[in-house]
Amino acid sequence: MTESDLPVADFHPYRWGDPAHHTELPAAAHETLAAFGVRTPAQPPVDLAELTLPEPAVDAKVLAELAGLVGAEHLDTTTAARLAHTRGWSTPDLLRLRAGDVTDAPDAVVLPGSHQEVVALLEVCERERIAVVPYSGGTSVVGGLAPERAGFTGVIAFDLKRLDALLAVDEISRTATLQAGVRGPEAERLLHEHGLTLGHFPQSYEGASIGGYAAARSAGQASAGYGRFDEMVVGLVLATPRGTLTLGTAPKSAAGPDLRQLVLGSEGSLGVITSVTVRVRPVPAERVYEAWRFDSFAAGADALRQLVQDGPVPTVLRLSDEAETSINLADPAAMFGGGPGGCLAVTGYEGSAAEVAARRAGASALLSAAGGQPLGTEPGESWRSGRYRAPYLRDPLLDAGVLIETLETVTFWSNLHALRAAVTEALSNSLTAQGTPPLVLCHLSHVYETGASLYFTIACAQTDDPVAQWGLAKQAANEAIRAAGAAITHHHGVGTDHREVYAREVGPLAVASLRAVKQVLDPAGILNPGVLIPTSDAAAQDAAAQGGQAEGGA
Ligand SMILES: Cc1cc2nc3c(=O)[nH]c(=O)nc-3n(C[C@H](O)[C@H](O)[C@H](O)COP(=O)(O)OP(=O)(O)OC[C@H]3O[C@@H](n4cnc5c(N)ncnc54)[C@H](O)[C@@H]3O)c2cc1C
Repeated sequence: MTESDLPVADFHPYRWGDPAHHTELPAAAHETLAAFGVRTPAQPPVDLAELTLPEPAVDAKVLAELAGLVGAEHLDTTTAARLAHTRGWSTPDLLRLRAGDVTDAPDAVVLPGSHQEVVALLEVCERERIAVVPYSGGTSVVGGLAPERAGFTGVIAFDLKRLDALLAVDEISRTATLQAGVRGPEAERLLHEHGLTLGHFPQSYEGASIGGYAAARSAGQASAGYGRFDEMVVGLVLATPRGTLTLGTAPKSAAGPDLRQLVLGSEGSLGVITSVTVRVRPVPAERVYEAWRFDSFAAGADALRQLVQDGPVPTVLRLSDEAETSINLADPAAMFGGGPGGCLAVTGYEGSAAEVAARRAGASALLSAAGGQPLGTEPGESWRSGRYRAPYLRDPLLDAGVLIETLETVTFWSNLHALRAAVTEALSNSLTAQGTPPLVLCHLSHVYETGASLYFTIACAQTDDPVAQWGLAKQAANEAIRAAGAAITHHHGVGTDHREVYAREVGPLAVASLRAVKQVLDPAGILNPGVLIPTSDAAAQDAAAQGGQAEGGA
């Protein structure tokens, strides 16, 4: 099966992915969890059918006006639609919904069918001071879909799933223009009809969409070969309350700052991206995935650094630490079953047969010289075929009473090991102090000549208040990341969860610059209030007081 074969399915509001692939934990896993002190939570998740929501706060006449712009069938105020658009997919998001906390539910969901309809909807929302949540795939894990309601007459989610077309393909320039609501598998299917691929395969691939990739600067698992999503973008169309920004007349330009970069990563705070023009590549004729074993994470990281600095660079390049290697997250049947010992690296090559053979030979020689032991294609192919399965495991683990969550960061190679040690220690100390010593797993999955991202998975027993439990651990990790001089996010984005730490990272002048841009494009501040950009002077002052760059911070 390749990525273009995966179906586009409707998700349950708090169970990940295609319902046909929902999974259970094997009995052996339950025994192991009990030995770790994991207790099944006293309260099972709420039955969503039993939940009621308050009547929409938005005036009925205004809702009728909005419905008039898109067609009555494309404005939905049902409980089911509002619940399906409540927050995103972080573990705290899921825990809150499971506990029946629906305080962030939007008042309505509107489904525009064109860029012009988005512009028209924004005009009404601005006039009526309605907060707007741009919603593509809804897989945000940083609180990017839960804006502040205070000061607004209501909150409306703009679900872009009707913007689902491939608008143009330029086979000579190898670019394609896709609308914002095209989900990952559908984008591949549409492009495959032209013999092309985007090559963007985040682990959220089954749920995330083109608009969200751009808005949150996503990085796919094949970023070593295809690049991050922001590197693929050559053009964007952004609907704002003040009009339309169309960016990207040429692949590169010397005319001023690259304004595309202002929109990439703007997380719905500056406008609604309605279409994106991306660089595409031919569907690879050959795909080979294989695995390597290194004695230690340090030895493996050193080998990956040499590879990305001196080449040739595989399409996929990742390294699990010892703990993650011993737990096969992609395969429930093999969970806790032990791995090859040491640290597992996966290398994948995609391209023409000759090019794959040449890159593979060169990279293999370098990895061998750096101490890697080849494990063959079987574990590599097994990683490839199981790579979208891990998120399905989170739901049965939460059911069983495990707190499981991930976080990521990025730094320069010279700082990588200090960062890993600091974050691991912060998470371990915080959770151990709460009586729930964790398992902290780490992998290195996005590599650059100058540095790499670190991705942590944490698992431990839930306390009676797992949202607060994780809040303390995450705060400790955030502080460790700041103290180590690393970035608060490599690819998950800022949302509301990282907003204050991000403000400290970039400093008050940078925050003021972002707010000034927002003031021009969205003077009423209706777009995702509180996401990415601190809304109040108090928040910005707080950031300054806690030491951003402009104040001489790290
Ligand atoms: C299980 C799981 C695995 C994940 N794995 C990865 C991974 O491998 N790599 C990675 O990068 N991320 C990953 N993520 C995070 C998430 O999938 C990415 O941030 C993704 O880019 C979000 O896309 P989306 O379409 O779901 O966006 P959404 O969640 O809908 O939106 C993300 C943010 O952008 C805003 N937004 C959405 N659409 C638009 C638009 N059209 N215009 C303006 N603003 C908009 C939203 O308001 C929100 O703030 C993962 C998440 C989950 C739950």
